[in-house]
Amino acid sequence: MSSLFKENDLWGPLDPSAEAGYGEDRPKRKGFFTDTSICIGCKACEVACKEWNDVPADHFDMLGSSYDNSHSLNANQWRHVAFIEQPSSRGRATVDLGMPDVGPPGSGDGAGAYGAAASEDPDASPMDFRWLMSSDVCKHCTHAGCLDVCPTGALIRTEFGTVVVQDDVCNGCGYCVPACPYGVIERRKEPEGAKNVGIAQKCTLCYDRLDAGKVPACAQACPTQSIQFGDVEELRERANQRVERLHEAGVMDARLYGNDPDDGVGGTGAFFLLLDEPEVYGFPPDPVVPTRDLPHMFRQASRAAVTLAVGAAVVFLGRRR
Ligand code: SF4
Ligand code: SF4
Ligand code: SF4
Repeated sequence: MSSLFKENDLWGPLDPSAEAGYGEDRPKRKGFFTDTSICIGCKACEVACKEWNDVPADHFDMLGSSYDNSHSLNANQWRHVAFIEQPSSRGRATVDLGMPDVGPPGSGDGAGAYGAAASEDPDASPMDFRWLMSSDVCKHCTHAGCLDVCPTGALIRTEFGTVVVQDDVCNGCGYCVPACPYGVIERRKEPEGAKNVGIAQKCTLCYDRLDAGKVPACAQACPTQSIQFGDVEELRERANQRVERLHEAGVMDARLYGNDPDDGVGGTGAFFLLLDEPEVYGFPPDPVVPTRDLPHMFRQASRAAVTLAVGAAVVFLGRRR
């Protein structure tokens, strides 16, 4: 089976736009490096995405577990900023950034005071939790499960190496939904009257903006440069340097997620610097493109077919005697 395919066709490192047939003059692969260590949770990226791409704004309600009010990536949420309120009981050292304490009006020890200085107990920790904030998005995988299974060709690889849905070609079959190892793509179900209801929807990495030489709307709007857009190769180098710097500064939990071309999806075009395990942010720890297991499945199926054929022949010949 593997001889039917070129090297790394099904998994492993690959230049996806070259693989898709774009010529030597194709642009370099584009993507995102999201450095969650400098995300302030302002959600400008979410808003910019919705505005530019005309994504409906609905289902904003508080989760109850944190200040997150946009839940997760879905057909109407192409960027999602996670607010993770992590107790210090997880053993992580927190850093007092000198934020103002807030107390009831007139309590005297509240508004206007800063950090531990405001507490009556001099030994009290100024913070017993930390915020982890992270702006999630479609990963524009090197090996994209959504694209591999699409029967209509609605999902395409662009010249920038990104993955885009063609709304007018998608028939709404939904095959792409379970094929995405990150749970990103979804068919739009509502609101009633919105465009593209029934059609698979996700981040396009602002294909129209890239085509016009512009930066994607979310990266353009991010005030801290937590979302950095550029050539994937250069972003990977930048990300490695940033992790090194954080390690030197004592932030030993800093790590990259999605930048390894040898991972289960051949590396992603949108990758992240995290301050804890991927699961804490809702990321799968070891995502795998469904096609990775095709050769193994084919071998198993071939063995089963040969065994069945031999069994049938034995029974048939046995009856004739
Ligand atoms: S993250 Fe999911 S939707 Fe995005 S390219 Fe990869 S498989 Fe497709
Ligand atoms: S690249 Fe464009 S479509 Fe994708 S999340 Fe950012 S703003 Fe939205
Ligand atoms: S715009 Fe930037 S800083 Fe604000 S929530 Fe998004 S990623 Fe974080």
